[in-house]
Amino acid sequence: MSDAVREAEAFLAAHWSPDVDPVAWRALVIDERWAALRWPSQWFGRDLSDDDAKAVEAVFAAAGAPGPGQDVTNLWAGTMLGYGSDELKAQFMRRLLMDEVAMCLLYSEPGAGSDLAAIRTTAERDGDEWVVNGQKVWTSGARDADYGMLIARTDWDQPKHRGISFFWFPMRQPGVEVRPLRQATGDARFNEVFITDARVPDTNRLGNLNDGWRVLQTALFYERVAMGGSMVGAAGGARPTRNAPRGATAAAHGSIPVPDISLVKLAREMGKAGDPLVRQQLMRLHSRRQVNQWNGERAKAAAAAGSSSPLASLGKLFMAQILHEAGHLQGELLGMSALLDGDQFPTARDHNYSQLNAYFFSIGGGTDQVQRNIIGERILGLPKEPEVDRDVPFRDVRTSGAASPR
Ligand SMILES: Cc1cc2nc3c(=O)[nH]c(=O)nc-3n(C[C@H](O)[C@H](O)[C@H](O)COP(=O)(O)OP(=O)(O)OC[C@H]3O[C@@H](n4cnc5c(N)ncnc54)[C@H](O)[C@@H]3O)c2cc1C
Repeated sequence: MSDAVREAEAFLAAHWSPDVDPVAWRALVIDERWAALRWPSQWFGRDLSDDDAKAVEAVFAAAGAPGPGQDVTNLWAGTMLGYGSDELKAQFMRRLLMDEVAMCLLYSEPGAGSDLAAIRTTAERDGDEWVVNGQKVWTSGARDADYGMLIARTDWDQPKHRGISFFWFPMRQPGVEVRPLRQATGDARFNEVFITDARVPDTNRLGNLNDGWRVLQTALFYERVAMGGSMVGAAGGARPTRNAPRGATAAAHGSIPVPDISLVKLAREMGKAGDPLVRQQLMRLHSRRQVNQWNGERAKAAAAAGSSSPLASLGKLFMAQILHEAGHLQGELLGMSALLDGDQFPTARDHNYSQLNAYFFSIGGGTDQVQRNIIGERILGLPKEPEVDRDVPFRDVRTSGAASPR
């Protein structure tokens, strides 16, 4: 048994009770450096190896005590740890771990989604600040956000993957207009964001100038790990992440409400638990979930702080498939009653919601097709897609974006 495990047991024996105030507990876990075990001690971690960290996480889990794991799931703090200056970290790290800063992701644009390197939002230097102009779209949580992780073009003469910088962008300022967009589920969690002469200090830049693509890879990795590891219960039923920190599992997308449905329970209720085909599908979902969990562990172990691993793409793709399959099976179990909707029929309503919401996992954080490209190129070693504009200055690249270079 490692020292860390012994210390964790002593800490839990001294402080943990299921009745403890959740916010006070969260603060204690962070300040006593149990929330992000693999991180350096300077930033709330304990410098533990992955094996030791897992052993400590198991001790907390066995006690039913929440808290550890933010080193692999907290997109915002993880990106800040990898690329923020010490001043920024001092200002934000603890608040991010406490989930006290509302954040959003300012990546996608009308002409740049899968091909994110085609962004045309521009940041121009003005003394110690950058002046930002452009439009973002599908920005989850933008209406409530204090800050956004923004990618903007800072050099139009470099090829498209270079010449991009990554900013910790203040959302509450003149020049930032947020307009909600309605989703197929009926929710309006994502938005258009119009940015006109808004400002961000150079000290809020993450990573080197024009090297924002590298920072983005880390941020996307965290997002995909979080989405790949989300919310599928033991029987392949989908579970909500209500108790998970907003900055973590719910990634960038606000809390993702996935109804709490046990498919085994539903199969029993509908008198179908003895049906061999239903049992086979339940087991298939269960096995997929188990395999995905192992893959998630591999992805987390493969990436040190501030880096990324293509294994996260496998997990995210698989999770999207699991959620689609779970939705179909749920529909089969419900039979004709799956056609109902509304608050009078909560099971059918939740079924409709989760069927539609499964598409969120197939699109947000990079589509299924894009994950397949990454798996093909970076895991299987297949030839890369042709990139005719790879070495062309972005100013000369033809894109679908309407605005011309500034
Ligand atoms: C619920 C939700 C929340 C989101 N939240 C955010 C957010 O907070 N911040 C943010 O910046 N973005 C967000 N997004 C946007 C999301 O990241 C993009 O929608 C996604 O990356 C796809 O981009 P696109 O919509 O422009 O589609 P496109 O890139 O135009 O893709 C259209 C289709 O073409 C396929 N395709 C494109 N290129 C290739 C290729 N090279 N190979 C094979 N197929 C390809 C795609 O898979 C897709 O099926 C969110 C999206 C959703 C659905």
